[in-house]
Amino acid sequence: MNDIKMNGVSDENLKDGLSLTELFEKGDGLTYNDFLLLPGFIDFTADDVSLKSPLTRNLTLNAPLISSPMDTVTESDMAISMALCGGIGIIHHNCTPEYQANEVLKVKKYKHGFIRDPMVMSPNATVADVLEAKRKNGFTGYPITENGKLGGKLVGIVTSRDIDFREKDVTLKLSDVMTKAEDMVTAQQGIKLQQANEILEKSKKGKLPIINQNGELVALIARTDLKKARIYPNASKDSNKQLLVGAAIGTRDDDKARLKTLVENGVDVVVLDSSQGNSSFQIKMIRFIKSTYPNVQVIAGNVVTRAQAKNLIDAGCDGLRVGMGSGSICITQEVMACGCPQATAVYQVSSYARKFGIPVIADGGIQNIGHIMKALSLGASAVMMGSLLAGTSEAPGDYFFSDGVRLKKYRGMGSLEAMERKDAKGAAMSRYYHTEIDKLRVAQGVSGNIVDKGSVLRFLPYLECGIQHSCQDIGARSLAQLNEMTYAGELRFMKRTHSAQAEGNVHSLFSYEKRLF
Ligand code: GDP
Ligand code: 5GP
Repeated sequence: MNDIKMNGVSDENLKDGLSLTELFEKGDGLTYNDFLLLPGFIDFTADDVSLKSPLTRNLTLNAPLISSPMDTVTESDMAISMALCGGIGIIHHNCTPEYQANEVLKVKKYKHGFIRDPMVMSPNATVADVLEAKRKNGFTGYPITENGKLGGKLVGIVTSRDIDFREKDVTLKLSDVMTKAEDMVTAQQGIKLQQANEILEKSKKGKLPIINQNGELVALIARTDLKKARIYPNASKDSNKQLLVGAAIGTRDDDKARLKTLVENGVDVVVLDSSQGNSSFQIKMIRFIKSTYPNVQVIAGNVVTRAQAKNLIDAGCDGLRVGMGSGSICITQEVMACGCPQATAVYQVSSYARKFGIPVIADGGIQNIGHIMKALSLGASAVMMGSLLAGTSEAPGDYFFSDGVRLKKYRGMGSLEAMERKDAKGAAMSRYYHTEIDKLRVAQGVSGNIVDKGSVLRFLPYLECGIQHSCQDIGARSLAQLNEMTYAGELRFMKRTHSAQAEGNVHSLFSYEKRLF
């Protein structure tokens, strides 16, 4: 039985295919399409497969999925959905520091355990103030304290029901419409989140203010957050149940000011966004961040070789982003003659970085679930996607029609169009082009359109379910086990000839429809 459980490979004579090192030993540059994974033994259901995977030294995702920091892929809507489904979004930096920090804040404010900095109003504020705050913040529940501040004595609360039908009386003071403190259910400071949630559930109220012994407001809990937790039990969260979020920055001096605002707004991880990360600029930036903000995790890159990875690991990074020239919108290999086929890059960097406990993100060139599985089976902890997520309703930008097809824009961050995007002061914000340094632009990306894919809240569960089924075929109950099988030589690979690739695609049909989920 043991032999069978070992996928047949404990017996040398039954070892079909190649081990990871054998797959790459000739040194050819391989892509995801150049090989397949051989099936193993199944004694569990696909639902049982755990998709937990490290993002950095200190952060773990519940699904190995990351949205790329591109201005046609990740702003707050995408980052919220990615985190709700167990992954994470990295907010792009082709915008002002203030705009980017505000996108980070929107993700962190989306849901909470305790809201430790709730918006508070004074009894002298008016219904108009609440309506204006609702327009700005999106919620209507405001605790009222004597001095209108957090830490002031709680005197009441105003919620949507208190101000419904008051549009004609917008000058009314909140002291006249609020629910008074004596009629409210509250909890004492020091209470555990679980107990507070139980009180909130039983009270049937929308909010539970937390007060200290003097009756002063210290925090708030919202019923909506209990519902959000129930609908998305796999969300990637920090210790206060707020969603995880990342942000990209560059390595110029003014990126230090950008980083400061991002940290002040709660960013969990920063990605140093460079197409060739092995530079003195990046090494200095990693050291600066680790000494100034020791709690912020740093993902460095991009790299594709061990030598590149070594410098960034030595400098103290917490994760590595791997890929050069494999992105769908990318022309780097053509223009710069520099890069590496993605499967080889992922193998090279992962097998080196694992010795230091540094997780690797396979970035670019992911076209389907099979590619995700292949990246993970080569040692990556997670994949970063651009084109696969562009065109969804959560991606920035409006839909438009062309020849009757509903489309959204998707462009490389090194395309002329993205590089030409300027901030309010007219400064270029691209990772590929620095006005003050470069005299002429050399595009490394293209700009195009992509078909409407609907919501990522439907698409991500499809990807996750697909990864679980693939793990089941391989015989891995978790991504952690998949990783062990990879490096133990238990996971078997097979190279594909051109005709094998043709055989693996749909063939011999007059016509067909390819519906994926
Ligand atoms: P409301 O009934 O209109 O106040 O809104 P909900 O309680 O349904 O939703 C409020 C959402 O906004 C929750 O997910 C909160 O975690 C989040 N939120 C973030 N900051 C604040 C805040 O300062 N006050 C309130 N009330 N909610 C906040
Ligand atoms: P995709 O998932 O679309 O295949 O690739 C997305 C990745 O391509 C991004 O995460 C980023 O690393 C890379 N990328 C984004 N814009 C450009 C670009 O203009 N040029 C190049 N060379 N790479 C890009």
